[in-house]
Amino acid sequence: MQAEAQNLYQEMKVHLGKIVPDVELYYKAEIAVEINRLKRERNALILGHNYMEPVLFYSVPDFKGDSLDLSRKAAQTNQDVIVFCGVKFMAETAKILNPTKTVLLPSEKAGCSLAASITAADVRLLRRKYPGVPVVSYVNTYADVKAESDICCTSSNAVAVVESLKSDTVIFLPDQYLASNVALQTGKHIIFPTLPGAPSSGDTLLDVQMIGWHGKCEVHEKFTVADIQAVRQQFPEVVVLTHPECSPEVVAASDFSGSTKAMINFVRASSAHHYLVLTECAMGDNIAAANPDKDMLRLCMVRCPHMNTITMENVRDALRYNRYVIDVPEAVRLRAYQSVQRMIEIG
Ligand code: SF4
Repeated sequence: MQAEAQNLYQEMKVHLGKIVPDVELYYKAEIAVEINRLKRERNALILGHNYMEPVLFYSVPDFKGDSLDLSRKAAQTNQDVIVFCGVKFMAETAKILNPTKTVLLPSEKAGCSLAASITAADVRLLRRKYPGVPVVSYVNTYADVKAESDICCTSSNAVAVVESLKSDTVIFLPDQYLASNVALQTGKHIIFPTLPGAPSSGDTLLDVQMIGWHGKCEVHEKFTVADIQAVRQQFPEVVVLTHPECSPEVVAASDFSGSTKAMINFVRASSAHHYLVLTECAMGDNIAAANPDKDMLRLCMVRCPHMNTITMENVRDALRYNRYVIDVPEAVRLRAYQSVQRMIEIG
C-alpha cells in the first residue's frame, strides 16, 4: 500500500475502526487516493451529506453536513467543480447557487420520493386556488418547484422561515409530515387540499392557516410508534431521536426531534448512553463513529434507496468521466435562486 493510502487508512481507522473491518478500509483508502488525485487535477470540491455511508463520509468530502450546511458551502466555493455526494435536488441547489461551476452528481439514480411528489404545475394550481398566499417549499424539491415558490426551507429552519413571512396563511410543500409538525410548532391549523377542486375538508381560508401537500419521504414515513415502543421495551434507558419528516405521532413518541445536524449536536451534548436514531441508517453509523463512547441503535430495515446509490467508486468515476452533469435552465435557475437565497439569509 502506498504512503498516501496508508495515511488515509489511518485517518479512517480513527473514526471507523470499531464499525468497519480493515479489509474494507484498505480497499476504500486506495479509491480515496484516486479521488483525491482527480480532485486536485480538476480543482474540485466534494460535499458529503450526513446520509452517506460511513467510509465515504469520513474520507473524501471537503465539507459534510445537512442540506442547509452544504447549500451554504456550495454558495461560498471558488473551485471549478462541485461533486455532490447526496441526491439530485441537493446537486440542483448547488447549481442554482453556482451557475458557472460544473456540478456533478455521481449517480443518475439518486432521486427522492419527496421531491418527486410535486410538480411546478401543482404549485401553480395551488397559487390559483389560494391567491396571494405565500409558498414555502422544502429544499427537498426540484428546481422548477423552487422557481414557483416564494422561499425555501430545510428541516432546521422551517419554523423560522414560516414565522419570517408574518402571514396568517402559508402554503407549505411538499412534505405532509414536516408541514404537520411545523403547524403544531407554530400553532397553525393545517389542511391538505386535493387538486383540482375545492378543499376536501370544506375549510375556508378564514379558518385555514397552513396548506400542505401529500408528499412523504419513503424512509421516514415507515417508522412507527410501535417501533419506538418495542425498542423502549428492550432498552428502557434509550433516548429516541426522530427527524421531523416522521409522522407527528412518531415525533410525539420520541424524546427529541430535529434536523440531522440537530440530532448530531444533541448526541454530542447529551450524557445518555443509548440512542435510537430514526432516520437514514447510515446517519446512525456516522453519529456512532463520532461518539465512540455512546451506542446508537438504528432500524436499518428502512433505507433510502437514493442516497445509497452514491459510492466511493462512482464519486471517482464522476471526476474521471465528468458525470453526471447537473443543469438547470437559466430562466428556472434565476427564479429558484431567489427562493434559495431568501432561505439562506434567514439562516
Ligand atoms: S431520505 Fe427521504 S427525503 Fe432524503 S433523499 Fe431519501 S427519500 Fe428523499
